[in-house]
Amino acid sequence: MAKTESGNAAAGRALSGVAADSRETAASRRGGKPAAQKNEEFNLTIEDMSDDGSGIGRRTGFVWFVKDTVVGDVVRVRVTKVLKSYGYARLMKIITPSRHRVSEPCPAAHECGGCTLQMLDYREQLRMKQEKVLNALTRIGGIPADEIKMKPIFGMDNPWRYRNKALFPIGKSRDGRIIAGFYAARSHRIVECGDCLLGVRENQKILRVILDFLEEYGIEPYDEETGKGLVRHVLIRKGFSSGELLACLVINGRSFPHSGDLVSRLMLIPGMKSISLSVNTARTNVVMGKEILPLAGEPYIEDSIAGVRYRISPLSFYQVNPVQTEKLYGTALSYADLKGGETVWDLYCGIGTISLFLARKAGKVRGVEIVPDAVRDARANAELNHMENVEFFAGKAEEVLPREYREHGEKADVIVVDPPRKGCDRALLDTMIRMAPKRIVYVSCNPSTLARDIRILAGEGGYRLKKVRCCDMFPMGMHVETVVLMSRVRD
Ligand code: SAH
Repeated sequence: MAKTESGNAAAGRALSGVAADSRETAASRRGGKPAAQKNEEFNLTIEDMSDDGSGIGRRTGFVWFVKDTVVGDVVRVRVTKVLKSYGYARLMKIITPSRHRVSEPCPAAHECGGCTLQMLDYREQLRMKQEKVLNALTRIGGIPADEIKMKPIFGMDNPWRYRNKALFPIGKSRDGRIIAGFYAARSHRIVECGDCLLGVRENQKILRVILDFLEEYGIEPYDEETGKGLVRHVLIRKGFSSGELLACLVINGRSFPHSGDLVSRLMLIPGMKSISLSVNTARTNVVMGKEILPLAGEPYIEDSIAGVRYRISPLSFYQVNPVQTEKLYGTALSYADLKGGETVWDLYCGIGTISLFLARKAGKVRGVEIVPDAVRDARANAELNHMENVEFFAGKAEEVLPREYREHGEKADVIVVDPPRKGCDRALLDTMIRMAPKRIVYVSCNPSTLARDIRILAGEGGYRLKKVRCCDMFPMGMHVETVVLMSRVRD
C-alpha cells in the first residue's frame, strides 16, 4: 500500500510513544558528543518496532531505527544517518536471530511497502500490538496500568488473504511491460507483485485481464513524471459473504477506449458485478477521483456482516478485514450495552456499518459522516435492512453534533466514535462532554490519538475507562484497532 508519511514523521511518532524519555536525556548523557558517526558499526539489541515496521534499538540513550530487523534480534549495524536524538542504521549481520523470527512467505516482502511484519511470528505480532496500546494508554493517556482491564487481543486463526480491498498502481517495468503492483516503502516505485498473500485470489485474475487488454490495445499507463498516460490504478473489492466483485479503473481522462471489450472480458470472471471508472485528471498523490462512471452493473456491490447487509461503492470507506470487523463491531455493540429505547450517535459512521449494528438494539441511531457518497450508501443500507430508526447527517462530526445539540436540543444516551488516524476534533470532544451520555464507545485505529482523547474524556470529561480490547484488523502490518468503553462517573 502507498505510504504517505516520510520516514522522519514515522520515526518521530515512534519516539513519542516508545522512547519519549530518551529525547532530552540522550545528548546530556553523552556529554554533548554525537551518538555515533556515519558508517560507524556496533552491535544492537532490537527491543521494539516502529509504526513502519523497522526494528528499534537503544544505545547509550540514543534510539536507532534498523530496517529488516525484528524484536529480539541481536544485530551488527552500520550508521547511515544521525539526527538529534535518533538515527538510522543498516543491518549488516544478524548475530543472534530473535526466537520470534520466521521466514517470510512472500517473495516481495522486503521491497514492498505493504506488509512490514512478515518476519515476525504472528503470536508475537499480537503481543506487540497489545503492548503498544497499553503503553499509549498509560504514557499518553495517563491511565494507571492497574486500572486498565484489557481482554486478550482478537487475533485471526488464518492471518492471510483477509483483505477485501486492494488498490494496485499501474505502470511500466524497466523493460517496458505494463505492470501492476504495490509501491515500495516511502516511494512511488512500483514493485511488481505476483500474488499478494493478503489479498483475495481473484485479484490476480482481474489484473491479468486488465494488463493483457492494455498491452493488446496499446493503452498507456499513467506516468507521474509527465502527467501523461491513461490508467493510474485498479481498485478491486470483494464481498466476502456475497462473493460479489467490483473493479474500478482510476483513469487520467473521462472515457476509456474499447471499454465494451474490457467489460465483456471482466464479466467472465465469476462474481464480477460492478465495473466502473474513477476520473482523476489531477496531478496529485490522491488516488481516487471523485467522479465514478459506471461501465457495467451498478456502481456498487453488496456484502453482509453478521446478518446486516451493506452496499459498498468504490469511494466509500469499508473495513478491509471482514472476519475481524465482525469481532470489532460485536465488541462495540456489547460495550454500548443497549437495552432498547436509547438514542445513540455514531460519529464518523462511514457507510453506516456500526450504526446499523446498533440500530437493531437501540431506540434510534444518528450517524454522521463527511463523505457524501458514504452517506448516500448509509441511507441505502438502512433501507436495504428495513431499519427506520436511523438517520444520517452529511458533514463534519465536529460541526454537525454541536449544531444538532445547540439548535435542536439533540440528546445522546450512548455515543460511538470511530475517527480516522488523527482522532477526534477537540470541538467534538467538548460537545460530547456537554451532552453527557452514559457511555462513550471509542473505536480507534491509532493508539496515540486514542490515548490523547481518552485523557481529555477521563480528565475534565468526568468519564472513567472501563474496558479495552484490541482487534488485529491488519495481520503482517503494524496497525492495530482498539475498542474502549468509557462510562460517566459524575452526573
Ligand atoms: N465507522 C465506519 C467508518 C470508520 S473510518 C466503519 O467502521 O466502517 C472513519 C470515517 O470517518 C471515514 O468514513 C471518513 O470518511 C470519516 N471522516 C473523516 N473525517 C471526518 C469528520 N471530520 N467528520 C465526520 N466523518 C469524518
